[in-house]
Amino acid sequence: MTQGELLYSGKAKTIYLSDKPDELIVSFRDDITAFDGGKKDRLEGKGASNADVSAFLFQLLEKGGVPTHFIKMEDPITMRVKRLSMIPLEVIVRNRAAGSIVRRYPFIEGHIFEKPIIAIDYKDDTRNDPMVNDEIIIALGLMTQEEIQTVRAEALRINEILKSFFESIGIDLIDFKVEFGRYNDRILLGDEISMDSMRLWEKGTHTSLDKDVYRFGKGDVMESYRAVTGRITGSGKL
Ligand code: AMP
Repeated sequence: MTQGELLYSGKAKTIYLSDKPDELIVSFRDDITAFDGGKKDRLEGKGASNADVSAFLFQLLEKGGVPTHFIKMEDPITMRVKRLSMIPLEVIVRNRAAGSIVRRYPFIEGHIFEKPIIAIDYKDDTRNDPMVNDEIIIALGLMTQEEIQTVRAEALRINEILKSFFESIGIDLIDFKVEFGRYNDRILLGDEISMDSMRLWEKGTHTSLDKDVYRFGKGDVMESYRAVTGRITGSGKL
């Protein structure tokens, strides 16, 4: 692997240039943060867990016809991806009520939505990632109406694939966040899909198996992350 110059260092991943102009190297670090960086720790093995899960789920989605930036794993914490021009939006799909939607609106935690709910946030920590609607996205020049429709349809397709996969391994997919970017004239799924960006509950219970274990001190974070990673990658579904 040829890892080039550092391009960007986020809260849990570092991005480097690669030996090819249209490919990047993503390194998953052991850092974990919550509450906009208000809580921070280093947990050994966390980077490898999230890298494993992201790689698995990107490949599962590709198999299901969802184009992603994933190319291959270079080593257990290092992923080679297509270089996207990221759209600064967080597309959140919710099957059941948990987290901010329960804090902001009168839903009871665990309420099952009749249809999945998509909510889109503008990615800007200094503004606390405000929720946007289609008009705001268009006015900001981030996407056209047609692109928004494509992204919404893609988010629902991702939800269908992930929900039925998790169901098959005894896990309820409560919600997740994805990010998209442009590659030539296409919009591809980028970033990561891991326990940091999904809410997963043990099937039929409200027992968290994701970053909420860390956010709310619900137990041994790495024990949960390792257990879920084992169930996902050992599922035999790839
Ligand atoms: P929330 O709006 O906090 O309830 O989050 C909804 C879902 O999106 C949860 O699965 C979160 O883990 C995920 N999520 C929200 N914001 C982020 C973020 N900035 N980074 C990663 N995942 C996020």
